[in-house]
Amino acid sequence: MEDYNRMIAKKMEKLVKGSSVIRAMFEEGKLMAKEYGVDNVYDFSLGNPSVNPPNEIKENIINILEEEDANYLHGYMNNSGYEDVREQIASSINNKYNTNFDKNNIIMTVGAAGGLNVILKSIINPQDEVIVFAPYFGEYANYISNFDGVLVETKPNLTNFQPDLEDFENKITSKTKAVIINTPNNPTGVIYSEETIKELARILYEKEKEFGTYIYLISDEPYRELVYDGEVVPYVTKYYNNTVVGYSYSKSLSLPGERIGYLVIPSEMDYYKDVYEAASVANRILGFVNAPSLIQRVVAKSLDAKVDVDIYNRNRELLYNSLTEYGYECIKPQGAFYLFIKVPGGDDKAFVKEAKKRRILIVPGSSFGCAGYCRIAYCVTYDTIKNSLDGFKDLIDSYRTGI
Ligand code: PLP
Repeated sequence: MEDYNRMIAKKMEKLVKGSSVIRAMFEEGKLMAKEYGVDNVYDFSLGNPSVNPPNEIKENIINILEEEDANYLHGYMNNSGYEDVREQIASSINNKYNTNFDKNNIIMTVGAAGGLNVILKSIINPQDEVIVFAPYFGEYANYISNFDGVLVETKPNLTNFQPDLEDFENKITSKTKAVIINTPNNPTGVIYSEETIKELARILYEKEKEFGTYIYLISDEPYRELVYDGEVVPYVTKYYNNTVVGYSYSKSLSLPGERIGYLVIPSEMDYYKDVYEAASVANRILGFVNAPSLIQRVVAKSLDAKVDVDIYNRNRELLYNSLTEYGYECIKPQGAFYLFIKVPGGDDKAFVKEAKKRRILIVPGSSFGCAGYCRIAYCVTYDTIKNSLDGFKDLIDSYRTGI
């Protein structure tokens, strides 16, 4: 083991040791399922969609395979992706959000994770600061560290989980190169309001002026399509010119293993051409070369396809209503498929252990920079939620009675 550790890069040693709690939990869930039976383990650890991809996906895969030239379909292409695919995606965004993009604003990426790494590689110099709003997707720390950037955390706003903009304003320095937002949010399910986005943009414009710098706002949006009660997710490029949108089909079409998404780099951005070119090259030299070819063509043909969000909504209602009835405190999610609960007793890691005794797998808030909370991913079957409820009730009761 020691020899092995000596073989790998110093930086990787640390990363392997601190490897994702969520992934570890997922692996543990699989072991527990073997021991107790799948139906007796309530695994809420991973954001792996439980709703099937829309039927059009399979139909389009088959049609494309039958109709298109095989060499073209499976071949290399421009590092940014197929031109016709990018053009179709740009017009679909324009139709939905009244924007003005074309193919030269779109880069097809290997999911949101690929897109975030591409844009960070394109803009980050060592020691540049990247601000994130707690609670945040823990992988951001790894992505930023890939390019020797420095992650700067703003403290969570525990009242409504909108960003704490006062703390944000104080944390912007001349070294701030980028800010990452994620809305609808993993892990809270909160959608950042238009008021929040406007204020965030105002602060960024002011700080760019004050420091004479450029600050990129990276909007990570894999959950854009997963919203409830007709909520609206503001399209961030309309509020701030130096915005890059990172989109993914992992959740919106339930295709996480296919690894497909895109970046939007608007023409209004300062040094747009340089950033776009850098991102195309980054896509290649990070080893992605280009996003997977077949699935690019599939998503372009499936732009109006949707997963059945009602299924997640049913889960959300059951989980939220039941847990709040038992006495848990949490905000009702407006989007995504996560519920972020305040932990009785305040120790999220201890709570996760207690939950595990009831065969409930959830993730501590400290993995998202927000101790004292836990994330429940409700992209599971309705029955999993129903069958887990006694355990959740017993869990909170045990804190009351000290059992
Ligand atoms: N960003 C957030 C907030 C996520 O929750 C996830 C995945 O769960 C990702 C990015 C990565 O998504 P993808 O599968 O598109 O790489």
